[in-house]
Amino acid sequence: MVRAYLGLGANLGDPRAQLAGAVAGLNREPGIRVVAVSSLYGSHPESGAAQPDYVNAVADVDTDLSARALLAVGRRLEIAAGRRGERNDPRELDLDLLLYGDEIWRQTDLTVPHPRMDRRAFVLVPLAEIAPEVRHPVNGKTAAEMAAEVPGQAVWRLAAGSEWAKL
Ligand code: ADP
Ligand code: MG
Repeated sequence: MVRAYLGLGANLGDPRAQLAGAVAGLNREPGIRVVAVSSLYGSHPESGAAQPDYVNAVADVDTDLSARALLAVGRRLEIAAGRRGERNDPRELDLDLLLYGDEIWRQTDLTVPHPRMDRRAFVLVPLAEIAPEVRHPVNGKTAAEMAAEVPGQAVWRLAAGSEWAKL
């Protein structure tokens, strides 16, 4: 059993419903149990392009799946939510593998810890909410430390985890 953290985001369709659907989908998957879900947060798109704001959250899961298999489940849930576009396009669902225990992978199709997690407030704020003490295996910092250090990016709380995630 490995403890992993997944970052969820959406800015097309009905973002809250797609995120709740993704959490339910993860929990239904054999070999994945959702342990905790952060509050829901809003953030502006990173690209600065004319796109709707994002809705973001982080899920804490226990899993028997490999990192690669967990990412494949995420990809399947993205497609099920209607995602079609390329990288940086607006999307119905983005599911990123942030941390998978202490494992470190540096392949194009599997980079863990997620290569940009340490500079994204929309990842670190929800992660620090549910797992302040979890440690990044490369930089050695906790989620709370990384969240405190990330340069100011607007991230606003929309709803408590107990209100939006239907486990
Ligand atoms: P982004 O999430 O950066 O906006 P996409 O979701 O469009 O980008 O695509 C991410 C690509 O990176 C996917 O093809 C996926 O296989 C690969 N990838 C590698 N490592 C990860 C990871 N830890 N989490 C999510 N995707 C990853
Ligand atoms: Mg992604």
